[in-house]
Parts: sequence; structure tokens; C-alpha cells
Amino acid sequence: MSPVIPIQAASCDNLPVAVEKGQREVFCGLTGIIWLHRKIQDAFFLVVGSRTCAHLIQSAAGVMIFAEPRFGTAIIDERDLAGLADANDEMDRVVGELLARRPEIKLLFLVGSCPSEVIKLDLSRAAQRLSKTHSPKVRVLNYSGSGIETTFTQGEDACLASLVPELPAPQGAETQLMVVGALADVVEDQFRTLLQKMGVSGVSFFPPRRSTDLPVIGAKTRYILAQPFLADTARGLEARGATRIQAPFPLGAEGTTRWLWAIAQSCGVSRATFDEVTQAPIQRAKHALARHAAQLKDKKIFFFPDSQLEIPLARFVNEELGMQLSEVGTPYLHRPIMAMDMAQLPPDTRLVEGQDVDLQMDRCKQDQPDLVVCGLGLANPLEAQGFSTKWSIELVFTPIQGYEQAGDLAGLFSRPLTRRLKLVA
Ligand code: SF4
Repeated sequence: MSPVIPIQAASCDNLPVAVEKGQREVFCGLTGIIWLHRKIQDAFFLVVGSRTCAHLIQSAAGVMIFAEPRFGTAIIDERDLAGLADANDEMDRVVGELLARRPEIKLLFLVGSCPSEVIKLDLSRAAQRLSKTHSPKVRVLNYSGSGIETTFTQGEDACLASLVPELPAPQGAETQLMVVGALADVVEDQFRTLLQKMGVSGVSFFPPRRSTDLPVIGAKTRYILAQPFLADTARGLEARGATRIQAPFPLGAEGTTRWLWAIAQSCGVSRATFDEVTQAPIQRAKHALARHAAQLKDKKIFFFPDSQLEIPLARFVNEELGMQLSEVGTPYLHRPIMAMDMAQLPPDTRLVEGQDVDLQMDRCKQDQPDLVVCGLGLANPLEAQGFSTKWSIELVFTPIQGYEQAGDLAGLFSRPLTRRLKLVA
């Protein structure tokens, strides 16, 4: 049996963090296209990849019946791999045909993959060339969704980071507050309403719903992350002069209140106004959580590293649902971004950065948690061994942020346990 505490413990503020560098079981960044193409409604994502990449996107995103999808794959085939065809000519042809057929597209992302990186296809030059050809009607950008050394939420980070240089500089009114990270429209609308009621003006969301509505950025812009996996995007925004508002992530009643309060303080909203606006939604969220907390209290939960949401989720299930943390794994630990959620974790939390999947499986079996949050590849084997699992990718697809979603978020943890109870019965 492997040791329970893994290798190379390093201190991180209030908690010791163990680091593992072994085999990993994660999805690639192409997965982000599934939620990003729904969010930016005039963008198209053209994966430059293999049939495997096409299958991943097709099966993960499902088939749209009433609309043509806004993603596709330019397949790199044997002729490209053997150097018999000029991949750049092929790309120009494919993009030309696509844009002629889909005039509604205003922003085209060329998305790199493992195969395009292996054959060293220079997509940034291709994007520049195609942008010149199709400007001003269509902007063409590129980013990598490759699965080489990345995890699936990095697709969104790479996509948004590629958009940051496109954000316009101020020529008058400047964005005062930018909320950064793809949120479901319903969540975005709720946050916008709450901020309006507090009197916070000049709010924009990044990414926007339409690529023609990119927020203005300048030295007066303050931004707040709504998703924890956007370290490269954050660096890009700061290079453009924006300042990050330090906050935990808006999950559950407490997380959402702290996140909104960080904004309120930064925008000069009084405590009295803040309390008046948030009182009713806080009560609704707490009421929705209570039902799930009764079922989940003292249940043990184990997080495998996958989505980079693990630390804020661990904070939520422990603080607001009373669950015990068996292990909290995260693929990467961006310490400044996670600091405020980490500060709320119990001091004896076993926090692991990186992965050695065999050792982690051993620890999981040793701990016998009531619920395991993990990637799709590990869920079936764990279920077969009698564990209840929750796919971490569901926590990214589902609207979980904000007060009104607190009950739904808790339900994602209580449902697998209810299901197992029913199966056993
Ligand atoms: S980008 Fe790489 S990991 Fe992702 S589907 Fe394509 S080949 Fe597989």
C-alpha cells in the first residue's frame, strides 16, 4: 500500500501542499470549446487536429439539431503528416469555404491540437495571414487546446488569453469592473442585477456574448475572476494595466457573499447597501442548501485533480455542507488566485498539486470516501469498485455560481449518494 501522505510537501500559507509528478488522467483543452461556443455567440472554433480530436468534440458537445454547430475540425490526414500537402494552403481553402458559407461568423479561432503541435504547424502565423485576408469582417485568432501537459479547463484560459490583446484601449469611458470567466448567461444576468442594485456601474463580462462587444481595458480597470483556472488570462489583463480584485470564488451562499463583498468594497458600496441587496438571495441560498446539508453532513469526499475548481469546491462542501475532506487534488495550484479559498479550508486538509494516479487511487481506496469527484476516465472503474462518483466536468458545464444556483450545486454532490442508496435498496 502506498503512503497516505505523498512526496515533497511544501508550505503554502496556511496549508502544507504535497506535489506529485506522475501519470495523469485528464481531458485536453479542446473540451472548453463546448461551453465557449455557447457563450460567444458569433464565434467559430476550428480545431486543426486529427479524427480523434473531431470525435472528442463531437461526442462531448452532442449534435445540434436545429442549428449548424459553431465548431468543427480541419482534419490533418496522412498527406499532411507526410508533408505531401501544403497544410497552409489547405487551411486557407477550408477557412475561405467556411466563411463564405457562414457569414454570421465574426470571430474565428484556429484551435491547435496535439497533432498540429507535433507537426509544428504555425497557427499563429496562419491566424495573422487569414486575419489580413478576411479583415474587417472576421477576426482570426489562435490558441492551443492540445492535451500535451495541460488539463481541460486550460482551453478556456488559452482562448481568453488570446483575446486579451484584442480588447480595445480606452478612448473615453473605461470599463470600471470586468468579471472574467465564462459564466452561463443566467448567472451573468443575476450578477449584473445584483451589482446594479448596489449602484456599481461600468460592469462588463469577459468573454462577452458577442465578439463585437469586447470590453474596454485600461489602467483604471479592476477585474475579478469568476473562474479559478484563468492564470494566463489574468497575467495578460495585468499586462494591459488592469488590477485584480482579490476574492474567493462565488460558490454557495458564503462564497458568493464574499465574492460580491470584495467587489462592493473595491467600488465603494456601503455595508448597509450591500446587506440590503444581498439579504434576500442569501436567505434563499441558505434555505436551498439546508436540505442537501442534512444528507451530506460528515460524509467524506475525495477530489481527484481535474478541473482546477477543486479548492473552491472543497471550501464549499466543507464550510457550507459540513462534508469532511479526505483529499483535495488540483492539477495546478495558482497560489495568489486560490489564497482566499485556501484560507477557509481546515488546517489538516490533505492538499495535493499534480498527480500520480496510481498512488492517488491507493489513497482513495484506503480512505474509503463516500463520494469521489474525478474525471470521466476514473469514474467507471471507481463505480465498479463500489464508490459513488461525480464527474468533475459536470461542475464546469453546469451553472453553479451565485446564490440562485447554490442548491443546484449542492445537488450535484447529493445526487450520486441518493442514486447509490436507491441502487442498494
Ligand atoms: S488535442 Fe490531443 S488529447 Fe485532445 S483529442 Fe486531440 S489528440 Fe486527443
